[in-house]
Amino acid sequence: MTNQERLDALAQEILDSNVCPELADQANRLVLGSGNPDTDIMFVGEAPGKKEDSTGKPFVGASGKFLDEMLASVGIKREDVYITNIVKYRPPDNRDPTVAEKKEFWPYLLKQIAIIKPKVIATLGKHSGTALIPHLIIKTDHGIARNIKMLLNGIEEQMTIVPLYHPAAALYNGSLRQTLLEDFQAVPKIIKENS
Ligand code: URA
Repeated sequence: MTNQERLDALAQEILDSNVCPELADQANRLVLGSGNPDTDIMFVGEAPGKKEDSTGKPFVGASGKFLDEMLASVGIKREDVYITNIVKYRPPDNRDPTVAEKKEFWPYLLKQIAIIKPKVIATLGKHSGTALIPHLIIKTDHGIARNIKMLLNGIEEQMTIVPLYHPAAALYNGSLRQTLLEDFQAVPKIIKENS
């Protein structure tokens, strides 16, 4: 089975398990993730927005444009990384995902990570950041890579997490734009150090 086939089976499992039925009812579709399932680099955002809900792909709206720009700034192509969200249905009116919704989707994010086994996970925003680094304080911790141990399929795996601000934050706060661009440099550096 290829990783893509494993991810397709995971999407089916989420549908069959009736995860977050209220969100599912209001959304157009499940947005599992997109990109290279055999990558070393994974990005985890918050939840799909309107455009993601209509296309089925994460980060294709305004935040996605800035994410593309940051990827280009470090010479990484979008098709070479895998991009997903912690919550995989669009919350109504783009509200924040609730604690319960994040909790319901958490085992599926872990399964996705277990399939892809990236070297680096860059979290985008506080929702995915605090899910992977429990006591994260984004104001002081952004851009600082941490090695964590994760139990994936019952095996302890070492993973590097780079907590980043959400790209949307840069759209509302111009000074964060430069911070994000600078923090982004950590991603290719870690890949280089690990290869
Ligand atoms: N914001 C997110 O966190 N994820 C998306 O897919 C789009 C916008």
